[in-house]
Amino acid sequence: MNVAIQKLQSNLFNNIEVEVLRTDEIHLIVSGNKWFKLKYYIQDCIKKGKETLATFGGTYSNHIVATAYACKSAGLKSIGIIRGEATKFSSHTLKDAESYGMELHFVSREMFKEKEKIYNQFNKDVYWVNEGGLGALGSKGASEILLTANTSIYTHIICACGTGTMCSGLISGALPNQKVIGISILKGNNDLENVVNSLVSKNNHASYSLLHNYHFGGYAKHPLELIQWMNELHKKENLPTDIVYTSKLFYAVKDLCNTNYFTSQDKVLVIHSGGLQGNLSLPKNTLRF
Ligand SMILES: *Cc1c(COP(=O)(O)O)cnc(C)c1O
Repeated sequence: MNVAIQKLQSNLFNNIEVEVLRTDEIHLIVSGNKWFKLKYYIQDCIKKGKETLATFGGTYSNHIVATAYACKSAGLKSIGIIRGEATKFSSHTLKDAESYGMELHFVSREMFKEKEKIYNQFNKDVYWVNEGGLGALGSKGASEILLTANTSIYTHIICACGTGTMCSGLISGALPNQKVIGISILKGNNDLENVVNSLVSKNNHASYSLLHNYHFGGYAKHPLELIQWMNELHKKENLPTDIVYTSKLFYAVKDLCNTNYFTSQDKVLVIHSGGLQGNLSLPKNTLRF
């Protein structure tokens, strides 16, 4: 698979060479990185002879809708365990997931944490994937994001981190002389370092740092300043971003470029990991795109 690279041209990035890997363009609903993260779970499920794959997520989860779609494409049944009670008005995300054949089960926030209890309620033949695709197979799939373009020419690769699975895959897949930067979009996720460290392959991999000061208040928080940034970025670069992950990622890139984090010799690759379907939860006309 080939993914397009977009060169950023505006004055936002202080003349640092910044290019974007547009994995968001692979599919409108199935955001780029989820596609890669699911690949080996789907293969493993089929190899183990299981017909149903189940996973966890919230009402607007990119992972849920991507799993539904990927399972449908692979001829597997899918189950989504959704955090929180069912409401009368289903989210567009869950409607899409159902339209791809996913069977939804709503559980309380308390119950959602009791994974063992949930597993026991289902047939032993269900193949379980962690929330967000967290795990070694997800990381392995994510490392292949770097094979979709000529990514060896960059000094830095920068991505958004939720669980850290994608970031760990990029670290494993990048060259030892490249540096991977992960932008945590959760507030105070002190566990991220451990998770990434445990998933990174033990081979010769890239160096990395994880930054924790670009969460804009926490997961899915989107103050006006962030919305304005999304509109400005779209106006100046024709680049759409999502409210949960990539808007915060690109804000971090801008900030790092303007605070001399990079030198003029550096060449930065930003991974646009998709997630645009999440913007449908905003009131109409909030975004210019
Ligand atoms: C899920 C997601 C991420 C985070 O991926 P992790 O592997 O959980 O860190 C980043 N960007 C988008 C658009 C996502 O949907």
